[in-house]
Amino acid sequence: MRCPQCGERETRVVDSRDLDDSATIRRRRECAACSARFTTYERIEAARLIVVKRDGGRQEFDRDKLASGLRKALTRRPVPDGIAEAAADEIEAELRAAGATEVPSSRIGSLAMEKLRAIDQIAYIRFASVYQSFEDLEDLKREVDTLYATRGDGSRSK
Ligand SMILES: [Zn+2]
Repeated sequence: MRCPQCGERETRVVDSRDLDDSATIRRRRECAACSARFTTYERIEAARLIVVKRDGGRQEFDRDKLASGLRKALTRRPVPDGIAEAAADEIEAELRAAGATEVPSSRIGSLAMEKLRAIDQIAYIRFASVYQSFEDLEDLKREVDTLYATRGDGSRSK
């Protein structure tokens, strides 16, 4: 970063603050040579995450779309507000932590099912029935049986 007045490389940050979106930092700098003051803006560059759909199409990962799918599955279920958003954030974090720039949509689908399964089993079945489009009632029954089998306490209340 060179001073716009004299071209000196050495500058001192005199003030720095987050702008409202908090992905941008505004810095007030002072040139070490001529004391000219100027402002720089620093932005976080989010790495692109591309979703590869089953038909081979590609689109940018859309965290809000994922959250709304989860919210829909959780409609009128007794779960805390914001849990769909939190799950979507966790899924995004997991995908980004894996470091790949392209991710198959099936991977997102199975992460979403994993989360829902832990949050609410009815929501899980709702999501899975749309996402996996169970072939028939037998498929659905098998999935529900698996849920019962893995419940541990064997409780069938609710
Ligand atoms: Zn200068």
